[in-house]
Amino acid sequence: MLKDEDRIFKNLYNDLGWEIDSAIKRGDWFQTKDIISKGKDFIIKEIKNSELRGRGGAGFPTGLKLSFAPKEVGSRPHYLVINADESEPGTCKDRDILRFEPQKLIEGCLITSYAISAHTCYIYIRGEYFREGQRLQKAIDEAYEKNFLGKNACGSGWDLDIYLHYGAGAYICGEETALLESLEGNKGLPRLKPPFPALVGLYGCPTIVNNVETVAVIPTILKKGAKWFSSLGKPKNTGTKIFCISGNVNNPCNVEEEMGIPLKDLIEKHAGGVVGGWNNLQAVIPGGSSMPLLPKKLCDTITMDFDSLVKAKSGLGTAGVIVINKDQDIIKCMARIARFYKHESCGQCTPCREGCGWMWRILERMANGDATYKEIDLLQDVTKQIEGHTICAFGEGSAWPVQGLIRHFRKEIEKRCHEEPLVKKKANIPYLIDQHLLEKDSA
Ligand code: SF4
Repeated sequence: MLKDEDRIFKNLYNDLGWEIDSAIKRGDWFQTKDIISKGKDFIIKEIKNSELRGRGGAGFPTGLKLSFAPKEVGSRPHYLVINADESEPGTCKDRDILRFEPQKLIEGCLITSYAISAHTCYIYIRGEYFREGQRLQKAIDEAYEKNFLGKNACGSGWDLDIYLHYGAGAYICGEETALLESLEGNKGLPRLKPPFPALVGLYGCPTIVNNVETVAVIPTILKKGAKWFSSLGKPKNTGTKIFCISGNVNNPCNVEEEMGIPLKDLIEKHAGGVVGGWNNLQAVIPGGSSMPLLPKKLCDTITMDFDSLVKAKSGLGTAGVIVINKDQDIIKCMARIARFYKHESCGQCTPCREGCGWMWRILERMANGDATYKEIDLLQDVTKQIEGHTICAFGEGSAWPVQGLIRHFRKEIEKRCHEEPLVKKKANIPYLIDQHLLEKDSA
């Protein structure tokens, strides 16, 4: 278990107060000026040495990302954009940072903006986080009052302004280029890459987009040192992480723990165990709904870090742990997730736009016992047609959960399938071909 002194987010449950004075007592805004005085190269090097990986889902090395910003500011200004569009089902970690630890994020914004030579920082927050946005705005105002933001922010000699921008609730705006489009006032459609935002981002200017949790841990890393951070967790999977545990557990919660903690410990020690006991566990989605599920036998031993989960053909993603016990219909659960992706596809790429609906309809038919054996391989084929053939990672995010289901629960699916289509049995949901056949049949 993580020791209290190694905890970064000491007010994750708001026991100590979110206001700036309480935050200062907990160590926020301490030595900020001194850290900045050490220079940009020092900050970026220290973040690289800490081996911090992005906490938004992809796990890209943060120090490396910061180093992609051009060293000199040319004719175009640089921007820092904070991705607070937390929309991944099963994930609500940034929410608690925004409302209970906002100063950690704001301090992180100042240090990171300085490191990438940005004088303007935008925080793009999902529209549904309206109250969290209000809280964050108050925290920003408090920081301005103390001169921690604005001209000569925190006495550092660096000017920084932070603006809060509300999204309108589209999942895809969490994809960094869609987020930038939305911030510019356009439809939230992902851009083709390259060019990458570090060179051509917001308003065509160099932009670094980072997740809330990633930026919020930066001040503590710089205060306590890269060595301290990298001593926690495992090599290349260092530090602490906020895990969100939901689903069929006795005590759903957010908890900060060391990277590499066994999944079983996480669920048993922090979330009160699986409803009905560990043996009643069916599967766990370890990193938000876009990551493939893991069946119980893998959950017995798996550890929660990027590399271990990739080896198990899943991913840490946002660390949104969704626990599914044996009382649930696993095919129905995955059909529900597929429906979410069908609804959220932005529609630019044909494989994603058509494939997501296709996967959802087949899964619904499977859950209802209306599908044929052949459709299992067809479904797998559809996922492969989406994966790697789209503009953004949404394609993989929609296909992977379905692949995970087929990989680990094929037998469950087969039990409900038939040799021939049951055209006489009325399908519960409209399905283009079935509907057509049904109409023909009854004519
Ligand atoms: Fe849009 Fe899907 Fe293509 Fe991403 S993969 S750009 S969400 S259609």
